[in-house]
Amino acid sequence: MDRLSEDGGGGPGPGERRAITLLGSTGSIGKSTLDVVARHPERYTVHALSANTSVETLAAQCIEHRPGRAVMRDADSATRLEAHLRAAGLDTRVDAGEAALAEIASEPGTDIVVAAIVGAAGLLSTLAAAAAGKRLLLANKEALVMSGRLLTGAVRDSGALLMPLDSEHNAIFQSLPVVTESGVSRGVTTSGVEKILLTASGGPFREWTFEQIAVASPQQALAHPNWSMGPKISVDSATLMNKGLEVIEACHLFDVAVDDIEVVVHPQSIIHSMVRYHDGSVIAQLGRPDMRTPIAHALAWPERITSGVAPLDFREVAGLHFEEPDTTRFPCLALAFDAQRRGGTAPTVLNAANEVAVEAFLAGRVAFMQLTEIVADTLGRAKITTADDLTTIIAADADARRLAGERLASIAGSS
Ligand code: NAD
Ligand code: MG
Repeated sequence: MDRLSEDGGGGPGPGERRAITLLGSTGSIGKSTLDVVARHPERYTVHALSANTSVETLAAQCIEHRPGRAVMRDADSATRLEAHLRAAGLDTRVDAGEAALAEIASEPGTDIVVAAIVGAAGLLSTLAAAAAGKRLLLANKEALVMSGRLLTGAVRDSGALLMPLDSEHNAIFQSLPVVTESGVSRGVTTSGVEKILLTASGGPFREWTFEQIAVASPQQALAHPNWSMGPKISVDSATLMNKGLEVIEACHLFDVAVDDIEVVVHPQSIIHSMVRYHDGSVIAQLGRPDMRTPIAHALAWPERITSGVAPLDFREVAGLHFEEPDTTRFPCLALAFDAQRRGGTAPTVLNAANEVAVEAFLAGRVAFMQLTEIVADTLGRAKITTADDLTTIIAADADARRLAGERLASIAGSS
């Protein structure tokens, strides 16, 4: 089966520079992307940058990368950004809000869109890039988990190219056979594949007891052993919800069933995922745990460019260790598998409840194990329907947030 087919049409010809829109440029993925882009001024220009409320960081990025446009989440931040930029002599157009985000993700002036906003806030701009036929580098896994078939359908209809930035999915992409058409690389296929082996580091609590995990603090959850990431995905890595979201992400990216995927805990994060074929062969992608590798791969594919990542030195790798995930201590992983099996709006509900729960945990309102309780309770109470259109998905997201909020209030009220 062919997935991720066809390069985003209408881009520049050979030797021309490709223009990039970076949704969420001030975050962890955003900064790593700009680091790679700055190494290749002959290949890339920055068309647009965007941020939530980090005015100073976005101003500094604009001064360095000179985008034509910048978008902030709200009007007040946009006014402050504009003042910074005018004082620096830049005439960058500054806007605010979701409609402007969708515009910079879809307008003709951009060829590549990096979806690096965290959570459901990135849904509409990611969908806009997909519908406009761009080369879409997807980090914002929540958007795909929420809108699954809608997003992949938009990619197919428009001829966009969906390139995974998530290190595991990028590794799977690299481990699959490439589909070519008239000598041009169009995507990858899962033909001959027996299982996708999705690796997980196990997070900071891999060796902790259930009792220790139950009362873990936000600070402890944020201390990931291998990766430096934004706060939401760091908490998701500690609950293993991140791996659950990634299982759903892989189903959509590679058009496979949830039972075609196996999660393997690999604490060193050197193997980023593997594919096992019917003949027993296993193909893996290895590298240092540094997001600049998948970013450089997805930017230039099928070519290869430098990323700034040091070569992997096997003399430094003490050993590679593997184990089964423990869904008793990390029940979120099982909840995600169940939601994907249930289908329809269940993954949308899972994601929304998790976003509410993670925010409450980071704010110190609930204990670590109550994250799972909120997600499970919301999935149990929400009405699950088919998820064929955007209106249904947005309504399911809102309903799940309301239900999760109720559960949260009852937990917070009883403590
Ligand atoms: P982050 O918190 O560091 O950055 C998030 C970015 O989104 C920031 O630029 C922020 O300004 C912007 N943003 C946040 N809320 C917004 C809103 N409401 N409206 C507009 N912009 C908003 O997060 P991150 O770690 O860079 O992760 C980004 C996405 O990439 C997430 O979906 C995450 O799961 C995924 N991802 C991250 C990594 C990683 O190594 N950090 C790896 C794989 C996947
Ligand atoms: Mg990942």
